[in-house]
Amino acid sequence: MALIVQKFGGTSVGDADRIRAVARRCVDTRNAGNDVVVVVSAMAGVTDRLVQLAHEISADPDPREYDVLVATGEQQTIALLAMAIQELGTPARSLTATQIRMLTDADHARARIHSIDTERLREELARGAIAVLPGFQGVTEDGDISTLGRGGSDTSAVAVAAALKADVCEIYTDVDGVLTCDPRIVPDARLIERISYDEMLEMASLGAKVLQIRSVKFGKQYGVPIHVRSAFSDREGTWVVPESEVMERLVVSGVTYNRNEAKVTIFGVADVPGIAARIFGPMSDAGLVVDVIVQNVSKDGTTDVTFTVARGDLARALEISESLAAELPARGVESDEAIAKVSVVGLGMKDHAGVAGRMFKVLANEGINIQMINTSEIKISVVLAEKYTELACRKLHAAFELGDAPVREEEA
Ligand code: ADP
Ligand code: ASP
Ligand code: MG
Repeated sequence: MALIVQKFGGTSVGDADRIRAVARRCVDTRNAGNDVVVVVSAMAGVTDRLVQLAHEISADPDPREYDVLVATGEQQTIALLAMAIQELGTPARSLTATQIRMLTDADHARARIHSIDTERLREELARGAIAVLPGFQGVTEDGDISTLGRGGSDTSAVAVAAALKADVCEIYTDVDGVLTCDPRIVPDARLIERISYDEMLEMASLGAKVLQIRSVKFGKQYGVPIHVRSAFSDREGTWVVPESEVMERLVVSGVTYNRNEAKVTIFGVADVPGIAARIFGPMSDAGLVVDVIVQNVSKDGTTDVTFTVARGDLARALEISESLAAELPARGVESDEAIAKVSVVGLGMKDHAGVAGRMFKVLANEGINIQMINTSEIKISVVLAEKYTELACRKLHAAFELGDAPVREEEA
């Protein structure tokens, strides 16, 4: 007998029939002799509508009220799923974040989970019931409702699995698992059967939204095996596991893209010690996460500094850059929103040279200009014009033979 946490995303609980199908799966898992805790997202489109409504009322909604509003989507689904399970003759109980004391900090709309009280959950399991929990939702020490950021139900599920020391956290979604690229833009993307936490962390942080980044961090920290799989079939999906349990060490295992960044350039700043600190200190004080940074060679004692931030933070980053340009001084500030970051990720890159060269050649052959480059041990990212996103992903996916037989280290 195992303890299984099952998480169902928005599409998987998109209407009454799908909720009934989810209930069936939960009950089958329980009838096979397992304890089952279910975590659900809001029905597809509901959170988007709530966010839009908030912005129709206020350009800058109060963070506390925003969370009270957007957390309601998940609250609908827990009740509906609990009813559907009961209809099948199995006891079920919905419990809100407050009831299980899913405590978070008070950083609304991107709160972090601190602790979960498992007592209530264990009581439900002990009486043979399926516990149904809302993803995305938390509660602060003061009893206010918080939310974990878009896609946060994954993190709720893995955190609950960690707290309960569950045998597995199953993430049911609308694709077969973690694929070599987003199938919406690369139709022949292939299922990755096993992926390490570190590779998955890179893929998630570089744009593969199939898992929220923090869910992978929790999984790694607490050793929770994560099984990402389709809500619409019984096929095995992708296991996210420690590196030692990954058999295939591919040079490139996936291609990702992120269209959610914008680029800022501050021209003609003095090339002297302390400039980077004076530019990026105020950015981090303002809570902005700066991603790729490039500083040009100094020609006449001055240099240009280019960096990217999330698109939603561009206005704030420009405000700070303009005021810095006046102070430093700098020759000017420019920005570009029509960019994308395309990356290749693979554990095998650690001890394999030549991937970057190959990537740049593929892009050059398509006449795609690389604006910025960023690398780590297991990834290479390039910033390019947004209009090339799909072309770049498809060509890289094909060049690294991800759609067909993967290229192994010794062959590359
Ligand atoms: P859910 O509502 O189940 O949480 P999401 O929409 O958050 O689902 O995540 C699943 C989606 O992630 C897929 O439909 C797919 O378009 C997208 N995606 C992006 N990159 C990948 C990838 N590498 N593998 C699988 N899916 C991906
Ligand atoms: N409903 C939330 C969202 O749409 C959380 C989730 O689905 O993971 O972002
Ligand atoms: Mg999701």
